[in-house]
Amino acid sequence: CGIVGAVAQRNVLPDLVNGLKRLEYRGYDSCGVTVHQNRMLVRARSVDRVAALQTEIAQRELAGYTGIAHTRWATHGEPVTANAHPHFSPSDERPRIAASHNGIIENYEALRAELQGHGYVFASQTDSEVIAHLVDHLYDGDLFEAVRAAVARLRGSFAIAVLCRDEPHRLVGARNGSPLVVGVGEGENFLASDAIALSNITDQIAYLENGDVVDVQLHRYWIVDGNGQRVERAVRTVSAHS
Ligand code: GLU
Repeated sequence: CGIVGAVAQRNVLPDLVNGLKRLEYRGYDSCGVTVHQNRMLVRARSVDRVAALQTEIAQRELAGYTGIAHTRWATHGEPVTANAHPHFSPSDERPRIAASHNGIIENYEALRAELQGHGYVFASQTDSEVIAHLVDHLYDGDLFEAVRAAVARLRGSFAIAVLCRDEPHRLVGARNGSPLVVGVGEGENFLASDAIALSNITDQIAYLENGDVVDVQLHRYWIVDGNGQRVERAVRTVSAHS
């Protein structure tokens, strides 16, 4: 239902949680966040209010420079914690990929069977979890290329945000049918499903188009369109109150 992501040089959890709070008005059944911390991907998820997630983040002293957050409106799988995003791959104690998704993956059953055939164990009933495992399966040292290859196999509507344990200052996003924007900062950059999620961080917003995949790093972001061409998307100044 809503995505927020950040690559920065400071703890991004307050911004991620604020972003989720700004998206709460859309409604959701669960929420979650993943950040890089001590060379691991760590995660908190809740079927409660974003404020409850915030309490857990404080109690567990979670912090990180790079992260993604999600509010879920369940389409496949009950609104329980195990189905809340981000989803991990492999689904064990040392996951390499974390992915959040808005939308519906129509060919998830075929992909799940294929990935189970490669040994992946599924931890949720969602359609979205295939994205994490597919990216992990296709990963060969470059998260951007892995996400591009994964997106080419997905059918349906999606906005996604993906992290890799081994690339701690990188966030990759993609959109097809569900909105996703880049929030442009100074020495930091962001992703969100709606500019409103970033309104206390940046008013410089680039709107992705269907087929776009974006490589978000500290000092730059690169967009490749559905034909594999590097493209620029106009950066607009949005009103803080929009
Ligand atoms: N289809 C996904 C799920 O049910 C994502 C739903 C959403 O957009 O929040 O987990």
